[in-house]
Amino acid sequence: MNKLYVVGIGPGNRENMTLSAVNALKDSNIIIGYDTYIDLIKDLIIDKEIVSNGMRKEVDRCKEAIVLASKGNTVSVVSSGDAGVYGMAGLILEIISKEYSLSEFDVQVIPGVTAGNSSAAILGAPLMHDYVTISLSDWLTKWETIENRLHCAGKGDFIVVLYNPKSKSRTEYIKKTQEILLNYKSPQTPVGIVKSAFRDDQNSQITTLKQMVDCDIDMFSTVIIGNSNTFVDGEYIITPRGYSI
Ligand code: SAH
Repeated sequence: MNKLYVVGIGPGNRENMTLSAVNALKDSNIIIGYDTYIDLIKDLIIDKEIVSNGMRKEVDRCKEAIVLASKGNTVSVVSSGDAGVYGMAGLILEIISKEYSLSEFDVQVIPGVTAGNSSAAILGAPLMHDYVTISLSDWLTKWETIENRLHCAGKGDFIVVLYNPKSKSRTEYIKKTQEILLNYKSPQTPVGIVKSAFRDDQNSQITTLKQMVDCDIDMFSTVIIGNSNTFVDGEYIITPRGYSI
């Protein structure tokens, strides 16, 4: 069978990678991924054939993985965090579904610890109630759609997890996000910003919705904005679930 694993490798460190992710890599003879992710797992794949390339080459990378699997290889396509959260899992299945047949392949999606969850753990317990994740990247999604979803999240008093909050070319969207959410949330709403969770240069900051735009936020950061019950105690952000204590 043409075997393809789509592997979420977690945030970066070995302890937060699942055993099934490690096993999938072991079972593969070819590993495909973005350079940075290949680098994070290099000691696990020393005996493997490696195909790596830069960002924004996702379609090429997936098509190459599918061709290699169709030739009888066992291929792992790696994504950081979870492969099904702004990762490669959907694209692999979509391409096979459109251009081949899913019955010709054995595709296994291996879950991983997504950035929202690893960042939340570093901050304490901010995601204890209903939350949404919104990517601020307008590369594949129109800004109007993102804006509308921010309004809906604000209206629903959801905790908001922002992926892709800022890049060199997208510095304004975090400010616009703040403006939208201030229509619904208090300026004092706790905000946690985690950069490079569980990697060597990890850094976390706790601030407020009013002040978050003055913080250091980049493309390796995840931003978590609380709901109306979220509070801060020392270095922890806590969203009550509602228990009486
Ligand atoms: N599939 C990934 C998300 C890819 S989108 C996952 O499930 O985690 C890329 C965005 O994820 C980044 O812009 C950043 O917002 C977030 N991210 C990925 N790794 C991170 C890490 N180690 N620490 C903090 N945020 C991270």
